[in-house]
Amino acid sequence: MKASVVSAVGGGFAVQELQLAQPQGREVLVEVKASGLCHSDLTLANAGLVYAPPAVLGHEVAGVVIAVGEAVSDCRIGDHVVACLIQFCGHCVPCLSGHTHACLNPDATLRAPGEPARLQTAQGSSVNQGFGLGGFAAQVLAHENQVIVIPKALPFEEAALLGCGVLTGAGAVLNTAKVEHGQSVVVIGAGGVGLSAIAGAVLAGASRIIAVDVAEAKLQRACLLGATDTVDSSQHDPVLAVKALLPGGADYVFDFVGVRAVVEQGLQMLGKGGGLYLVGIGDGSTTVDLRTFDLMLNHNRIEAVYMGSSNAKRDIPFYAEMALAGRFNLAALVSRRIALSQIDEGYLALKDGATARVVITDFEH
Ligand SMILES: [Zn+2]
Ligand SMILES: [Zn+2]
Repeated sequence: MKASVVSAVGGGFAVQELQLAQPQGREVLVEVKASGLCHSDLTLANAGLVYAPPAVLGHEVAGVVIAVGEAVSDCRIGDHVVACLIQFCGHCVPCLSGHTHACLNPDATLRAPGEPARLQTAQGSSVNQGFGLGGFAAQVLAHENQVIVIPKALPFEEAALLGCGVLTGAGAVLNTAKVEHGQSVVVIGAGGVGLSAIAGAVLAGASRIIAVDVAEAKLQRACLLGATDTVDSSQHDPVLAVKALLPGGADYVFDFVGVRAVVEQGLQMLGKGGGLYLVGIGDGSTTVDLRTFDLMLNHNRIEAVYMGSSNAKRDIPFYAEMALAGRFNLAALVSRRIALSQIDEGYLALKDGATARVVITDFEH
């Protein structure tokens, strides 16, 4: 099977022939039809974090089930599925409460130590499988808890985005913040995840949805997802611009950037009782100063978002249904299609403001 492998920290992605085990127990074998490029995989690859090389990353996967282990009950051969990075056991208290993103036993989705690795080199040495998936590959072998059946009418390249970016962005609005109809939402950073938040705000029935970004192309795309207003923060002070649109301040601000200036601007945009939601991670070292008294006077809250507080088995079919009903413009998020061997170029393209999401659609069989 062809897979794009990270063989050295910072060394990029290169296609190799690997061996993938046959499914056992609750494992599902998926032939990959589309695999999205999420920025966190590049961060992990360049820093050598979590999954040491050699590793196959990629965690936004859509495809077709081609084999199942003997204990699989959630899907069958021929099903169209999304494979999602949220690993959950299904038995711990957070899982039983529906909060699978906070599972205490995510490793329950992996093979036990001592069992043969799912992914191996042609010579038989084991290869790390990012998030229990390894989606930059022609096939994925994953636990059924990470595999979600979707309607066959949904194009694979759109479905793939449901696995991470959409779950995070739309989930931040619908699950974490629980935005209600009639409320106002500001989304700072209109990349693929921020755009999904805009679509989520439409589904929530938000009255005003203001997209803030420095790239005009992203703001135009934000309107395709349902933004009611846009602010080009390279041209205008974003706080003044938002206050001009919402004199009482915003009910919800979502930060998809994660740098100090943006966090501070986000706080200044809030109206009484408003909440700032931190989704973007910047470079991971962002700090801010807070005047707690100001927060108290304005009774504001700040909350960090993890995976949009998503429950993939519930949320992915919902977003798929909304896309098919014309209520979530997933198609507008796919701005470029590449082959498996072009992942490095794909990540370069993501730096361009005109690109929302890059999806591998050619697995070079
Ligand atoms: Zn991701
Ligand atoms: Zn659990």
